[in-house]
Amino acid sequence: MKIVIAGSGAMGATYGSMLAKAGNQVVFLDSWQDNIDSINQYGCKFNNLGTDEVIPIQACKPSEFTDIPDLVIVFTKSMQLSNMLESVKHLFGANTRVLCLLNGLGHTDTLKRFVDPKNILMGVTVLTASMQGAGSFKVSNYGKTEIQNIVDDKEAIEGAKKVVETINNSGLPTVYSEDIMYSIWRKACINGTMNACCTILQCNMEQLGTIPNLRHLLGQIVTEFAMVAKEQGTTLDVKEMTDLVCWFTTSEFQGVKHYPSMYQDLINNHRKTEIDFLNGYVAKKAKEAGKEAFYCELITEFVHGKEKILGV
Ligand code: NAD
Repeated sequence: MKIVIAGSGAMGATYGSMLAKAGNQVVFLDSWQDNIDSINQYGCKFNNLGTDEVIPIQACKPSEFTDIPDLVIVFTKSMQLSNMLESVKHLFGANTRVLCLLNGLGHTDTLKRFVDPKNILMGVTVLTASMQGAGSFKVSNYGKTEIQNIVDDKEAIEGAKKVVETINNSGLPTVYSEDIMYSIWRKACINGTMNACCTILQCNMEQLGTIPNLRHLLGQIVTEFAMVAKEQGTTLDVKEMTDLVCWFTTSEFQGVKHYPSMYQDLINNHRKTEIDFLNGYVAKKAKEAGKEAFYCELITEFVHGKEKILGV
């Protein structure tokens, strides 16, 4: 398959490297010149579950590539998606599938501004990867990827299943989802509680778990997510979802001492967060529907406040 990775950071480079190793024709597109130069000169340096590998891959800026691919995988941060789609839209042929595995909410609407809905594939991944420097990446685990087309027709389903098979064949466990919006909301609930609270409180999930009344607080956040999800046709069981997010603060969760990615982005690396596509999205959509999502609004303001304090 001819595949373009639109955003060759931690996640894009990981999926791209695995897909290239499996024999697909992969090209990395990115705006970061040092990243492009390093990949072209030395290959993509890839620490694959502890083993160092070098994968030869062509990299360039979006405007420099013009071959229509079978698949574009977008892998920017949420707030960069729209700009990326604008700069790769010349690559969308009549049958080019566009797969979005970003964290956060509202991306389907952004994609629809650029891509024929029959070619849009939405997904969720729990794989974790990090950037080690320009041209150098590390994958720590192959968490499951779930994918589904957004238009319910035979050709769209077949296209999505072909992409699932291709990613699976590259060694990354991938399944076809029958309800991707449920999985997207479920992950957003986890990120909207764990990421947001640990970032504001500057703590890991184990420490978050020691806060008195935590279950009530997280339950309120989840209730607001469930309210907006319901408006958009997805039903979340508030008790089940609250149990799930609370579980991440217990010793049963292996990564409980882990600082979530939003914490790492903002506190460690002074990078902008994806809060507007998590709690911020819920607060905005609630307001548009004449409702209130007080907890999500407060959390969003606090995270933006922290960005300001840190000069991000
Ligand atoms: P990243 O910042 O490492 O990579 C984004 C890349 O996109 C960068 O290399 C950047 O230069 C490039 N880019 C951004 N805008 C561009 C533009 N307009 N033109 C060209 N290049 C552009 O981010 P990441 O960690 O790979 O995360 C991507 C998404 O995946 C996020 O939504 C994140 O929340 C989600 N996610 C990440 C992980 C993880 O472990 N890193 C796990 C699950 C989900």
